[in-house]
Amino acid sequence: MRSTKAVIHLDAMQHNARLAKESAPESLLIGVIKADAYGHGAVQAAQALNTICDAFAVAFLDEAVSLMENGVLKPLLLLEGFTTDEELECVGLNGFWTVIHHPYQVDILRNYQGPELEHVTLKVDTGMHRLGLMPDEADALITELKQNDRIKELSLTTHFSCSDELDKSNTQSQINKILALAERHDLGIAMANSAGILGWPQSRATWNRAGIMLYGATPFETSHPLGDQLKAVMSLEAPVIALREIAVGECVGYGRNWSAQRPSLIATLAIGYADGYPRAINAGTEVWINNQRAPIVGNVSMDMITIDVTDVHHVGLGSKVELWGKNICVNEIAAANNTIGYELLTKVTARVPRSYE
Ligand code: PLP
Repeated sequence: MRSTKAVIHLDAMQHNARLAKESAPESLLIGVIKADAYGHGAVQAAQALNTICDAFAVAFLDEAVSLMENGVLKPLLLLEGFTTDEELECVGLNGFWTVIHHPYQVDILRNYQGPELEHVTLKVDTGMHRLGLMPDEADALITELKQNDRIKELSLTTHFSCSDELDKSNTQSQINKILALAERHDLGIAMANSAGILGWPQSRATWNRAGIMLYGATPFETSHPLGDQLKAVMSLEAPVIALREIAVGECVGYGRNWSAQRPSLIATLAIGYADGYPRAINAGTEVWINNQRAPIVGNVSMDMITIDVTDVHHVGLGSKVELWGKNICVNEIAAANNTIGYELLTKVTARVPRSYE
């Protein structure tokens, strides 16, 4: 019933995935659909991308099991791998692909007697210092893992710490480290994330992992020839549920921190921070209504937002407002809230219905 909703444009998602594929035609594409496909609905994303992606990646086992139970048949890579014997058993039984990023997982693997593992990818810490074995540790282990008869396919992986910053040399150093290791051991590699796919051609390898670009948000802060071709997938929309005229000097919302400098028309929208719209926005953050921008005024409430529509024509009860989407990029709202588009997209809460178009 709720007309506040996140409209998910699956054709835009497919366009973005094709861009990832065409940017790296020699590579296989892993669609990163963890965190419910960054808030877009993982099952729907997997269905829409089924013929474009070669595999999908999720963070942990429960996410993979849920996708499998919902009919997703493509290989499912667990980016965090497993933490116990039981979890590894579950990986083997279900044919999931797994990351190994820490020596304790190697110990679990040594004792593993379950079904053959379809794909094990050894994560190497080339500089991010979050997950992964150091290159010399990995070197020593690869020979052992190559001989493990429970592993069908072995590969190497790493993750970049600042590939969105195209002028930083750190990414090239990460690329060099993983390439050297892969060449020594003749193994396939996955390293490129969205920024890698779009901006670091030398990082495109056997597999690439596209996340944020699938959802139409560029990983770069500035204009980029490929990043600019992405299409926004989620439109976060809410209706106007009240309108009022206020006099000069009247204040709007909790805390009375915005006051009218002229007679103003204020529209109240049925969306708030409990829906995932950030509360801590800076003054001047805008929404899209009747083909133009209008500023948010007053504090964002739990269920409502107030906007100044004095200069907007034909606003009425029920007028549809875009909080982010095709006209207002989620990255713009993120920047006004000192965060990133990833966080905003994944934080749209369950009470906002997703509608697929
Ligand atoms: N690979 C790993 C290991 C990740 O953690 C992520 C995202 O967090 C991705 C790939 C996708 O990154 P992006 O969304 O920047 O493409």
